[in-house]
Amino acid sequence: MKKPEISRRDFMKIGAAGIGGGILSSTLDPKKLVFGAPLPSKYVDKEVDSCCQFCQVRCTTKVQIKDDRVINVYGNPDNYWTGGAMCPKGKSMVELTYSPHRILHPQLREGDNWKQISYKQALDMVAERILKVKKDHPEDYAHRVALFEPLWESRESELAAKMAIHLAGFPDYSSPGDACIGNSATTLRLCLGSATSTTTLEEILNAETVVLFGANIAEMYPVYTRWLNMAQEKGVKIIYLDPRVTPTSNFCDVQLRPRPGTDGALALGLIRYLIKESLYDRDYVDKYVTGFEDLMKAAEPYTPAKVSEITWIPSDEIVGLAKKLGRRKRTIFWIGGSISRYTNAMQTVRVIIALQAMTGNLSGPGKGIMNVQGGKPGGGEDFNKKYEAHDLDHKLSIRKILYNMKRKRVDVLLLNGAYRRYPDANRVKKAISQVDFVLYRGFFMDAEAQLAHLIIPGTMVYESEGSQYGAQRQVVWRNRAIPRPGETIEDWRFYRDLGKKIAGDTFPSLNSAEDIYELFRKEAPTWKGISLGRLKKSPTGITWPYPEPDEPEKRGSIFPDNRFTTPSGKVELRIPALRAIKWKEPKGSPKEKKKGAGEFPLIFSQGKVVWHWQHTYTNWSSFIGQFSKGNYVLAHPETVQDLGLKDGDRVYLETKIGKLEMTLRVTKSILPGIVWTPSHPAPGSPVPGNAGESINTIIPYYWDKVSAQFNGFGCRLTKS
Ligand code: SF4
Repeated sequence: MKKPEISRRDFMKIGAAGIGGGILSSTLDPKKLVFGAPLPSKYVDKEVDSCCQFCQVRCTTKVQIKDDRVINVYGNPDNYWTGGAMCPKGKSMVELTYSPHRILHPQLREGDNWKQISYKQALDMVAERILKVKKDHPEDYAHRVALFEPLWESRESELAAKMAIHLAGFPDYSSPGDACIGNSATTLRLCLGSATSTTTLEEILNAETVVLFGANIAEMYPVYTRWLNMAQEKGVKIIYLDPRVTPTSNFCDVQLRPRPGTDGALALGLIRYLIKESLYDRDYVDKYVTGFEDLMKAAEPYTPAKVSEITWIPSDEIVGLAKKLGRRKRTIFWIGGSISRYTNAMQTVRVIIALQAMTGNLSGPGKGIMNVQGGKPGGGEDFNKKYEAHDLDHKLSIRKILYNMKRKRVDVLLLNGAYRRYPDANRVKKAISQVDFVLYRGFFMDAEAQLAHLIIPGTMVYESEGSQYGAQRQVVWRNRAIPRPGETIEDWRFYRDLGKKIAGDTFPSLNSAEDIYELFRKEAPTWKGISLGRLKKSPTGITWPYPEPDEPEKRGSIFPDNRFTTPSGKVELRIPALRAIKWKEPKGSPKEKKKGAGEFPLIFSQGKVVWHWQHTYTNWSSFIGQFSKGNYVLAHPETVQDLGLKDGDRVYLETKIGKLEMTLRVTKSILPGIVWTPSHPAPGSPVPGNAGESINTIIPYYWDKVSAQFNGFGCRLTKS
C-alpha cells in the first residue's frame, strides 16, 4: 500500500484556494480571487452573522454591508469546525446575489413568453389550482399534488412547505436526499437507530486510524482538511479508499484504489479475515450486535484472492488493511457521499457498519462512523406526527411520483429544486412536462424554469433568516443581512401563505422563521434545549441531542454507552427489508456478465469539484466559471491507447441511454478501465465554463431501495 502522487501544481490548481480559506495559491490570479479576509471597518456599515447554505459543513460567516448592499463575506473566525475558512462556493454568493440574470418578480407563462404578475396574483393562482384539484376529485385528490421540497433556504422552509401540503391532505413530497444520500442515511437508521454520523469530527484527533471510504474531503468539504492535518500531526494514520487520485490523496498516509461500487466486497473480505484470524472483539459482538452469524456466513466466500479480483486491489494490500483494522483499537470510518450512490449501497453501508461493530469501534472516543452527507436531525418524530404523519403512511416514493406524473395523474407540482438531480434526467423532465401546472421556486431562467407554468422567485441566502443543520449534528442560525429584492419571497413565507389558503385554520399561526423554529423545537425532545437566544449567539452552531437548556453541549459519540436506538437496543445486522447480507455488482456494470455488457466495457464514475456543488446555482457565477471547464472526461493512457484517442480530443461519453460530447483528458490519476467526469455542467448557464449538458441525462435509471445509482455502470468512449 502506498500513497499515490499528484503534483503539487495540479493540486493547487484544483483546490487549494478552497482549502486555505483565504490563503491564495501562487498559481491563482489574485486579481480574480479576492476572498478570505474581512474588509477594513472604514468601508463597512455593519456586519451580519450568516452561514453558507451549499453543503453540510454549514460554514458560519460574517456578511459585510455597505449602503444595504453586501460587499464581502468571510468565514466566522470563531467557528470551531471551520476555523473561519470558507470555500469558493460560499464566496460566490456575493456575486450571485446581484446577478443580472436573477428573476425578481413572479412570471406567468403565456405561450412562449413570460408575463410579470404580482406576488398576490401568483399566490392566489397556486392556491386556486390546488383547491380545484380537491374540488374536481373529491374522492381521489391526495396524490394529484406533489412537492419537490425546498433545499437551499432553511429548515423552517422545509417544514413550512411540508406542513402546507400535508395539512391540506397531500402526502407526496420528495426530499432532496431521496435521489442520492438516502441509502446511507437509511441504513444507518436501520442498523443503529440514527440516520446521521455516530460521532463528530473532533474525534478523529482521538483515533489511531481514520478510513475515508470514498470521502474526497478536499473537494467536497475542503474546510475540513484542517482536521485531517491536525489528526496527522497527532500521528493518526489516514487511509483513503478511492479509485481516483484526488486532492484528498495529499492528506492520506495510504491510498487503496478499489473499482467503483466494490467497497462492500472489500468490507466483507476484511470481515472474513478478522474472523479467521480472531482479530475481532468477541465480547463486544456478544453484548451489542445481533445477526453476527448471518455476517459470518455472508463473508465466508470473500477470500483475499476473490476480493482482489472484484476490487482490483492487490491481495497483500487487502490483508495489510485488515491487520491494521484488527490491531488498532480506535478507528473512525468516514463514509463519502459516493458510497450511497450505487444499487448495492445499502448492503455496502451495512457491512461497513458491521466492520466497525466487530472491532468495537462504533462508540466511544476516537471511534465511530462519520457520514458527512447524512441524515436530517433526529428527534422530530413528534413534530411529524402532529403536522405530517396523519397521511404519511400514504406517501409515495419519488419513483412513484414520477410514475404518476408520466401518466398524467399529477395535476400540480411545486418544484423547488433541480430535476437534473435524478438519474435519466430527460425521463424526469418528460414526466414533469405531463403535469398540468408546475410552479417553480427558482432564481434564474434555468432548465427547470423551462418546464414551469408559473415562477415565483425565491430569496437568496443573505435575504432571509432561518436555521440549517450540518454534518456535525449542529444547528446554525442565519440572520437576514439585506432586504428582499423585487417581489422575491422566502420559501417559508411563501409556504406559510399558501398553507393558510389551502389548509385554512389547521395551518398554525406563524409570523416568522423564528416562530417555525420554536414550533419544531417544542415538539422535538432532542432539540428542546437549543433555544433561539442561545443558537443565535453561537458562532459554531449547537450540536444535538440537546434536551435541556442548561446542560453542556454533547459532542462526540451519539451512543456513548453502546445503547443503540434500534428496537433491540443493539447493532442490528439482520434487517428484513434489506434481506440477506450480500454484495452484488452495481447494476449495469460491465462485470455483471450480462448479455450486451461488452458493448459498454468502461466503468463510469462522476463527482463534484471543489468549485461547484452540482445542479445548483453556482453554475450562474462567473467567479466560479473561471475555474470550470464544462463537460470533460478523465481516462488513463491505457484506456485510450487502443481507441485511437489522445489528450484534448473531443469524444463522446456514451452509456446505454445516451451520449454527451466532451473533452478527453488523459491522466494516470484514474485507473485503467474507469472514466470519471465532473457533474456540475448545467444547460442554459450564461457562463461558458459552467455551461454544458447535465451529466445525469446519460445516467441509466437504476435505484437501490431508497436512492439512485450514479456510478459503476458501463460506458464507452468514441471519437466525436
Ligand atoms: S460550500 Fe460548504 S465548505 Fe464551502 S463555504 Fe459553503 S458550507 Fe463552507
